[in-house]
Amino acid sequence: MNHNTPLISTIVVGLVLAFILGALVQRVRVSPLVGYLLAGVVMGPFTPGYVADQNIANELAEIGIILLMFGVGLHFSLKDLWSVRAIALPGAVVQITAATVMGWALGWTLGWSTGKGIMFGIALSTASTVVLLRAMQERRLIDTERGRIAVGWLIVEDIFCVLTLVMLPPLAGLMNGETAGGLDVSALAWPLAMTLGKVATFVVLMLVVGRRVIPWLLHYVAHTGSRELFRLAVFAISLGVAFGAAILFDVSFALGAFFAGMILSESELSQRAASETLPLRDAFAVLFFVSVGMLFDPSIIIKEPLPLLATLFIILFGKSLAAYAIVRVFGYSNSTALTISASLAQIGEFSFILIALGVSLSLMSERGRDLVLAGSIITIMLNPLWFALLDRVLADKEGAPKAPPDEKPAPRVELPVSPLTNHVVLVGYGRVGSVVGRALRAGNVPLLVIEDNPGTIERLRQESVDVITGNAAAQGMLQAANLAAARGLLVAIPDAFEGGQIVAKARAISTSVPIIARAHSEEEIAHLKHHGANSVIMGEHEIAKAMVAQICMGAQPLAS
Ligand code: AMP
Repeated sequence: MNHNTPLISTIVVGLVLAFILGALVQRVRVSPLVGYLLAGVVMGPFTPGYVADQNIANELAEIGIILLMFGVGLHFSLKDLWSVRAIALPGAVVQITAATVMGWALGWTLGWSTGKGIMFGIALSTASTVVLLRAMQERRLIDTERGRIAVGWLIVEDIFCVLTLVMLPPLAGLMNGETAGGLDVSALAWPLAMTLGKVATFVVLMLVVGRRVIPWLLHYVAHTGSRELFRLAVFAISLGVAFGAAILFDVSFALGAFFAGMILSESELSQRAASETLPLRDAFAVLFFVSVGMLFDPSIIIKEPLPLLATLFIILFGKSLAAYAIVRVFGYSNSTALTISASLAQIGEFSFILIALGVSLSLMSERGRDLVLAGSIITIMLNPLWFALLDRVLADKEGAPKAPPDEKPAPRVELPVSPLTNHVVLVGYGRVGSVVGRALRAGNVPLLVIEDNPGTIERLRQESVDVITGNAAAQGMLQAANLAAARGLLVAIPDAFEGGQIVAKARAISTSVPIIARAHSEEEIAHLKHHGANSVIMGEHEIAKAMVAQICMGAQPLAS
């Protein structure tokens, strides 16, 4: 091995090993990310053989985080972020407090000082962006209400992490019990005000200047017609803004990238920008998991089994329970609360940054650090299982003949039942639903749309289409659509899991109404049929059929 190329060897060995182990574990039906983490363990300093450069691995992981958060920002408007503030802010604060108290309690039983215990608890409190977003993306949940809440929650945790990094040094003396003359408030107030001021300046600058300049730049490049330049522009913007934000405003890379994406989300080029970053984003996200694996010292399982179990308990159950409770208190449905708590039942990069600082300030013992690192890798490994369990719990509930009693009794329940009869109920008025809807209206078929996107609802109202606002899976929605008297239900939303919930609820209302749903894979078709859909259309099949039809007709252009 040429030792003069640590960057190349870290990337190459990391990707190759992650590929081999990822493919191997997938064969035994385990999530590939477990393979990526194992690749990191193999490349790490605690196992024999090749040892990669940890610093380089961490930096590569940061690029993965930047691209991921940029991608999320592209799907997120300021309105989306604002709309979840009421739950994301108190939710994250309560959960961080709960985790910190539990961590401190564990530290106390292990004989640590109060300061060390609190530091340990804080390190357990924030979830990993990469793990959460991957889980959400895999389930196509990012664009749903649950996804928006989870992302809002992440942003609050991110800002909390930035503030903690600033506040810890001036607080370290007090937490270590060294400050005799009490706390110097001015020493605390100044860095806090500075940090908040910098974050606010960055946000304002992005919203006022960035919002104009960045979309303009991207449009300009798009018009040059060069794909290569466009791709380059997307990377330059995402990485450049993230880096600039970190250097100039002390904002985390993740937050900087998120804002860069968010101000582009209003541009019609955002879809294209998102697809340009996908391949690199996925490759770097893999390196994130490798870098986490490298930190893991497997001997801790034998040396500290009980403290490790307690740490895992806090991350998996303690944090989840706190998140579940607060989401429910805010009146959200059981499934939303379970999804949020499952997505937060892990820790990652924020914890590593916090423990590094904790160790440098003597606020974290080596033992505490090892427990946090082991807790991270194990909970990241368990996260897909956690979600699988959640899917099963929710599927059981969906299959129940009656609507789940714990669904939020929203005002929608009291929605008046539509007077329409012999109508078609259409769920979702996006790319698929709008085409269906237009055709039905042209054929004078009575139509009722259920849609949860405020922009689309507004448009439908202007066009005098009957519409019920909200998530069709929520209690009372299908009843309000008078499904029992309808001629059919069309579920035209992309998320087959949510589609399954809607289909199951519709079947509980009427055993005879024809239900047609939309899917993207054979598994989704089976899932939807299992819940009672009469027919499921898979977009990819229909595209293939249309292509064959066109070529067989001598590629005559079809009427659009
Ligand atoms: P598209 O993926 O372009 O076909 O868009 C799907 C549309 O369905 C979007 O306008 C979403 O707002 C809407 N949608 C997705 N899930 C639901 C749901 N559970 N209830 C109502 N509308 C939904």
